[in-house]
Amino acid sequence: MNKKVVTDLDVKSKKVLVRVDFNVPMSKTEIGKILDNKRIVAAIPTIKYLIENKAKVILLSHLGRPKGEAKKEFSLEPISKELSNLIKKEVKFIKSNTVVDENVKKEIENLKDGQIALLENTRFRKEETKNIDEFSKELASLGELYVNDAFGTSHRAHCSNVGICKYLPSALGFLVEKEVDIMSNALANPKRPFVAILGGAKVSDKIMVIENLIKKVDSILIGGAMAFTFLKAQGKNVGKSLVEEDKLDISLKILENAKKNNVKIILPVDVVVSKEFSNDSKFFTVDVDKMKDDYIGLDIGNKTVELFSKKIKDANTVVWNGPMGVFEMSNFSKGTFEIAKALAETSATTIVGGGDSASAIEKSGYKDKITHISTGGGASLEFLEGKVLPAIEAISNK
Ligand code: AMP
Repeated sequence: MNKKVVTDLDVKSKKVLVRVDFNVPMSKTEIGKILDNKRIVAAIPTIKYLIENKAKVILLSHLGRPKGEAKKEFSLEPISKELSNLIKKEVKFIKSNTVVDENVKKEIENLKDGQIALLENTRFRKEETKNIDEFSKELASLGELYVNDAFGTSHRAHCSNVGICKYLPSALGFLVEKEVDIMSNALANPKRPFVAILGGAKVSDKIMVIENLIKKVDSILIGGAMAFTFLKAQGKNVGKSLVEEDKLDISLKILENAKKNNVKIILPVDVVVSKEFSNDSKFFTVDVDKMKDDYIGLDIGNKTVELFSKKIKDANTVVWNGPMGVFEMSNFSKGTFEIAKALAETSATTIVGGGDSASAIEKSGYKDKITHISTGGGASLEFLEGKVLPAIEAISNK
C-alpha cells in the first residue's frame, strides 16, 4: 500500500490523535451498557503500539447519531471504562459537550508519554458529519500526528477522519491497514476459483458490488430476498416473496453481463417458504419451480445449501456479504448458518463483510475459522464496489 502506516511515524513524546471506531451497540434500556465490545478490542493493537512507543494517545470516536447535540446516552464515558479494563491501564476520559475547549486543551498538555485520553463523541458537534473545516482545525490543534484506525467510518468524509488530515502528518492504524490489505489482495490477486456470496434484503444495495465483482470473480452465489428479484426476472413465480419490481430489468442485464464475462451466477434451486412473515407459522421447503402465489420465500433450502457449500469447498477465495434468509427468525436461519459452516470448513481465504453476515458468523461459533471478518459493514461494501474510501485516500502517501 502506498499510504503511511503508524510504524512510519516517529511517535515518541508526540501527541497522537487516533480516530478509532468505538461505535458499539449500546443497551436501549440501560444507559452506558455495552452490548458488544468487538470494535473496542479491534482498536487495541494500535493503541498498545503507541503507548509502548511512548506516544501521548488521544482517542477520537463517534457513537450513534446524536445529530450535533451533547446527549448523555451517546457519551463515550462508559467506553473509556471498558477500554481501561481491556488494556489494564488508565484511560482518561476528557468530558466536554463541545469535544474541544480550553479545559480539554489543558488536560491534553498535561498528558505524559504513554498515557491515554479519550475525548467526547465527535458527533456532539454538528460540523463533524458535514466535514466543516473549523472543527477539523480545532481537532488538529490538539495533536502533532494523526492516525486513522476506524475502518467502519472510512467510507464517510467527516472532520475527524478526512478534514483533519489536511492539518497533520497522518498514517493508518493496524486495523485499517489489515482490512485494506486483506480485501485489496483478495480482489486484485485472488487465488482461483474466486467465489462471492451475496444475500440480504435488496438487489438495489448490491448492484454496484455485483457489477464490480463480475470483473473479478468466477462465480456469484445469490441468496436472501435479493435472489427472488433475479428469479422473478427469469420469469419464475416467487409468490409473495420480497421483490424489487423496479430492479427486474437490471437483474436481467446483470445475468447477461455475467454470461458475457464467463461468470456463473448461481441462484437458489429450493427455498424455505411460509404463508406469513412470522416464526410462528408453518414452514416447509419447495423447489423454486413449485412456488405458489401465497408463499413467501424466507430462506434457502437444503439442496441450495448443498450446491453453495460445494462451490465454497472448491474455491480458493471466498467473499461473503449478506444473510441467506431472515436469519433473525430461528426457522429461517439455517441457510445462513450452514453457509457460515461451509466457510469455516474450507481451506480457502475467507472474507466476511461486516453487518449481518459478521454477526451470523459470530453467533455460529465459527468466528476463529474465518480469515477475516470486517469491522465495517458499509465500508466493506463500498470496498467491494471498487470505490476509493475517502478516509483512506486522505492519509499521507509514503
Ligand atoms: P441487508 O441489510 O441488505 O444485508 O439485508 C439484511 C436483511 O435481509 C436481514 O434483516 C434479513 O432478515 C433480510 N432478509 C434476508 N432474506 C430475506 C428474505 N428471503 N425475505 C425477507 N427478508 C430477508
